[in-house]
This record gives sequence, structure tokens and C-alpha cells, in this order.
Amino acid sequence: MIILMQPKATAKQVADIIAQVEADGYHPHLNEGENAKIIGVVGESPTPFNTAKYESMAGVANVRRINTPYKLASRELHPKDTLVPLKGNMVGGKKLFLIAGPCSVESREQIIETAHAVKEAGAMALRGGAFKPRTSPYSFQGHGEKGLQWLAEAREATGLPIVTEVMDSALVPMVCQYADVLQIGARNMQNFALLNAVGESQHPVLLKRGMSSTIEDLLMSAEYILAHGNNRVMLCERGIRTFEKYTRNTLDINAVPVLKHRTHLPIFIDPSHGVGYSEYVPAIGYAGVAAGADGVIIEAHLDPENAMSDGRQSLTPHALKNMMETIRKIAGALGREA
Ligand code: PEP
Ligand code: MN
Repeated sequence: MIILMQPKATAKQVADIIAQVEADGYHPHLNEGENAKIIGVVGESPTPFNTAKYESMAGVANVRRINTPYKLASRELHPKDTLVPLKGNMVGGKKLFLIAGPCSVESREQIIETAHAVKEAGAMALRGGAFKPRTSPYSFQGHGEKGLQWLAEAREATGLPIVTEVMDSALVPMVCQYADVLQIGARNMQNFALLNAVGESQHPVLLKRGMSSTIEDLLMSAEYILAHGNNRVMLCERGIRTFEKYTRNTLDINAVPVLKHRTHLPIFIDPSHGVGYSEYVPAIGYAGVAAGADGVIIEAHLDPENAMSDGRQSLTPHALKNMMETIRKIAGALGREA
């Protein structure tokens, strides 16, 4: 439910409503709307929600149902864009946030050298997987904690915050020691124990859309993280499976404006996994930015042909730099910065 307060409602009136919501056994969430405060009421309680009682309380303008199954993720409850602070940047604001790096952390030297290269190309954060969700159990699975330590060294060397995947809820505390952003991969988008675990941390989370998940599924997964008390959630469209065979996935450009309309959370696109071939990555990245994405995450490798994973879709630092320059122009044309 949404309790919309009158524009002139006092702090005491807001506090009284929140206390009543808690007394009735629900969870209140206070948000600022354009002109007035909004109190979201979520959760289950044996006490039926009494709309008339709340409507008669001082300072209340109206009470209505949230029309979507996701509540905390919805624009209805939270009209303003959420900004996620990340090392001096505000993700989701006017400035686009650009993340780049290899698919996998391969060695200490590789990740430190790549970190310098992507920073030089304009990246604002370094990506790199230490735990890799591979289709085959015989493919490289990542260097684990050693890879995280190398990522931390790369951050030390360049100042770039680290985005890295966590695949197991038991490992969330350990990954939090090294990472600035916890990536939830497409294959784990509906690993609810993992969503709950990252929801209990206060680390920013980059939640990637499952390859066979709807936009609503993605928002419901975000809801798990939000409902566990972590509101630093960023969503990522990374391509879905279609019948098309000339690309690895199909980046669902539609998802960008639809998500911007339905949720207040920042939206990223991943053109690398979205299309799967480095020669198409820039065009798809530009399309995503033009569609309104708040950020882009791109795979880049010093030597794509010899990458341990996803080399076919990885840009060289030179190609990354060119791509970022064009992104900057597109951002400018849209009244944004990069
Ligand atoms: C990745 O970012 O390298 C990755 C495995 O992505 P996804 O989960 O989107 O496949
Ligand atoms: Mn990858």
C-alpha cells in the first residue's frame, strides 16, 4: 500500500503513521515524492490493512494499493531516481557510469595492467571475475580469493572501484572484503538465498537479468535485495536468449526505457554479453546509452584472442577508448555527461 501524505504534513504526523504501520505488523518505507512524502507499507501481517483508518489520520492525503508485484523497486512508491554512491560518483545521476575490464581475472599482472589501460580509456570502475559461472565444469572457474586480492591490488594501483561477481551466499562476507560492487550474474538472478545474503550487506549490488527472465522477474529479484534492507541496487540488461544464432544473446533495448519507467533504480547495459562479438559491441552500447541507460559495463582484454574467457566479445583497450569517446558524445546529445 502507499500512504500519500499531504504536502504540508508535519514530521510528527509522518512519525505517527509510521508508528501505526509498525504497530499493525507491517514494514513502513518513507520516501520523498515530488511534492509530498510517501509511506510505503509492505509485508504480511495477521492484522488486515485498514485503509479507512489510515485515511482518517491527520496529514494523510490518500491511501492506495501499489499495482505491481514489486513494491520497493517501483516508481509508484519511490518516484525519484535512486542514486548509488560509488567512490565519489553517483550512479544513476546525470553522469553515465562506465565499467570495464576482463571477463576473468587471469593473473596479478594482467588485472593490474588492464586496470591502468581501462582507466586510461575512461572507465570509472574495474570489472573482473574471480568466481566464474561457466557452462562447462571443465572450463576455467576463476582464481577465487587470490583473484579478489589481485583486484584489490589493482584498485590500490589505479583508484578504480572493483565490480566482481559473487556466486554463493556463504561467500558474500568474503567478497565484500575486497569488492566495491557485488555482481549477481545472469545465472544467479533467481538464487534467492544469494539475493537475501547480498540484501543483508550494505554493498552496492549490480543485478544482471537472467537470460530467460522477464523484466518483471528482474524487478522481483531486485525486490528481494531491497526487502532485506539494501537499497543500493543497480540493474543490468545483458541480453536474453532468442532464436537468433548470429549473436550470442539479444540485448533487449526495450528493457532500458521500460525499466526506467517502472523503477527508480539505476539501469546498466552489458553490450559484451548482449551481443557476444567485439565488432558489434560498440553499436549495441551506443544504442543502450541512447535508450537511456545510466551506465555501461564492457569486457576489455589486453589480448582478446588469448583470453581465458569471453575473448570473442572483449574489446582491446584501444577499441574501448574509441567506444567511450563516442559514448561521451551521445551522452552530451542527451543532456548527460560521461
Ligand atoms: C560476466 O559478467 O562475465 C558474466 C558471467 O555475465 P552474465 O552473468 O551476464 O553472463
Ligand atoms: Mn564474461
